[in-house]
Amino acid sequence: MTESPLRYLQGYAPALQDQVRQLIASDRLGDHLATRYPSRHAVQSDKALYAYTMELKQQHLKNAPGIDKVLYDSKLDVVQRALGLHTAISRVQGSRLKAKKEIRVAALFKAAAPEFLQMIVVHELAHLKELDHNKAFYQLCQHMLPDYHQREFDLRMYLTWRELPGSNPPENREPPDRSP
Ligand SMILES: [Zn+2]
Repeated sequence: MTESPLRYLQGYAPALQDQVRQLIASDRLGDHLATRYPSRHAVQSDKALYAYTMELKQQHLKNAPGIDKVLYDSKLDVVQRALGLHTAISRVQGSRLKAKKEIRVAALFKAAAPEFLQMIVVHELAHLKELDHNKAFYQLCQHMLPDYHQREFDLRMYLTWRELPGSNPPENREPPDRSP
């Protein structure tokens, strides 16, 4: 089997990467993901995304610093920042320097499964307390989402699948009909 690089999965064990390569080679990765994650979430506006994020924060991270803004960002570089972008923008307000916390979620996740949106938001919320991807960071993620690691692996498979020739990612399709 050719060792094509799986750029979203580079941090994982070679055996796991081979499993994904096999799914790709036998054209089953899309079905594998569609079976596990069949639905799409309904969080479709920045306003809804803010409310969704604040609810998760309220449940699990009440004492973390506040968030000023949460938004979908269509210009977010998925390759560099596959897992969203966390920024603290410093602005001079009067004589004080105020850090403004923003959570940006790559716009492609608007059309993703609810499990993937949840994982991304959990990841970004954990960054309110831990800037780096260290042990404490992943403990926080697991506190909010016990199967965080599986979810992140699956999401990275999803990002891999989206870029395969011939895949038809949901953000290119019509949203499902929600009328009764
Ligand atoms: Zn991160």
